[in-house]
Amino acid sequence: MKTLYIVVPCYNEEEVLHETTKRLKEKLDKLIKNKKIKKDSKVLYVNDGSKDNTWAIIEEINKNDKMFTGISLSRNRGHQNALVAGLLTAKEHADIIISMDADLQDDINAIDEMIEKNNNGCDIVYGVRNKREKDSWFKRTTAEGFYKFMKIMGVDVVFNHADYRLTSKRVLDNFADYHEVNLFLRGIFPLIGFKSDIVYYERNERFAGVSKYPLKKMLNFAWDGITSFSVKPIRMVLNIGIIMFVISIIMLIYALTVKILGNTVSGWTFIICSIWMIAGVQMLSLGIIGEYIGKIYSETKARPRFIIEKDLSND
Ligand code: UDP
Ligand code: MG
Repeated sequence: MKTLYIVVPCYNEEEVLHETTKRLKEKLDKLIKNKKIKKDSKVLYVNDGSKDNTWAIIEEINKNDKMFTGISLSRNRGHQNALVAGLLTAKEHADIIISMDADLQDDINAIDEMIEKNNNGCDIVYGVRNKREKDSWFKRTTAEGFYKFMKIMGVDVVFNHADYRLTSKRVLDNFADYHEVNLFLRGIFPLIGFKSDIVYYERNERFAGVSKYPLKKMLNFAWDGITSFSVKPIRMVLNIGIIMFVISIIMLIYALTVKILGNTVSGWTFIICSIWMIAGVQMLSLGIIGEYIGKIYSETKARPRFIIEKDLSND
């Protein structure tokens, strides 16, 4: 049996916290009773610099029931950073950690299956939404477009997986070696590796309060995801540069041919050649500089080069 911690980031969630606490308590009690997890399993709330009574409520819940604990960030740092704070805190106390949103849009009944898969040897279990009927058309289209666009841009993400996932302590120990400031957790976990699996669930509506993820935050999030995981945009500039350069040479030959045949007004050849050559060389140079910046950028992230999963050399 293992100790489970559920990490829940909360930003202005006073309307949902009591209900969430009630439902999570029922769930944990049941799991403990059925001997699926150890008695010291807990829920860890992360107050992400809320401006309402969220932290006061968390303190009160903790006073009444030690199954619930919390940490409070000094200010609002965003969902991803709040999650990291929670995950890194929880891994010191738990064997398995599940992250989920405070609004319980992610069905908590998927937890049983996640634990099951973990017992069967999976270090990471991704919660994946199988339907989005309850999301508005707009949210569904933008969200699914987001995953498709990420794939095209060269970021390895699990389709329709948000941050509802189970991870083992050893995954989080390795995760702690990723020091990047621009965080995109959905991209990092597939990168860490280890045996993983997927659990499907239906996404519910928020039972109270409003979304803390407006379109603007979502676009920022997508942009962050692409620019911190992929050098594909830089490669695109380089490719355009190469194409432009090739075209410029063709244009050069064309302009000279026309000139030799004598069908031009004076000055045309010179201007056409200059424009194409300069544009081509500039684009190409930008692409080459970009390649180097891309390298600098991956070096500065100082990501671990490998993670050893099994080691027989000490036997
Ligand atoms: N959240 C957070 N910090 C923020 C924004 C959101 O910790 O700056 C939390 C929020 O409290 C919730 C989770 O992130 O638990 C997901 O937010 P939300 O449900 O509003 O997003 P949506 O489900 O609409 O995408
Ligand atoms: Mg939500």
